[in-house]
Amino acid sequence: MNTRAAIEQLLRAGYGNKAIARRVRVRHQRVAAIRADLGLPNVVRPAKTTCSDDAFWQRTQPVAGGHLNWTGVPCLRTTDGMLTAYRIAFRIRWQRDPEGPVKPGCDMDRCVHPDHVEDQPMRQLYTAIFGEVAA
Ligand SMILES: [Zn+2]
Repeated sequence: MNTRAAIEQLLRAGYGNKAIARRVRVRHQRVAAIRADLGLPNVVRPAKTTCSDDAFWQRTQPVAGGHLNWTGVPCLRTTDGMLTAYRIAFRIRWQRDPEGPVKPGCDMDRCVHPDHVEDQPMRQLYTAIFGEVAA
């Protein structure tokens, strides 16, 4: 099969220009030109997905002590923009947006367990109740 025929086949299968360009090893502009030739519409990407709880849990791994390790990239793209794993964890637990930075409140660095993350007001509250925790 020649390159053009391969590109046409992939276009008709619904692949995007860049995906085809990578696969067939041509410039995506060439794919776009062939797409235009064929009168095929551009592939419209589905709307950005809200970061579901699933997307969060799929990127975590339970570790000793009941903590949760984050195994994904540090941020996830959501309909609200890029969010850190901490912020997503916070929203899962508290059903609201955190105020200020979200950090693990447990003794495991980088723990993303929804029950373990705290925002600024929570830290201030704990400090008010328990005083400064010795480092
Ligand atoms: Zn923890």
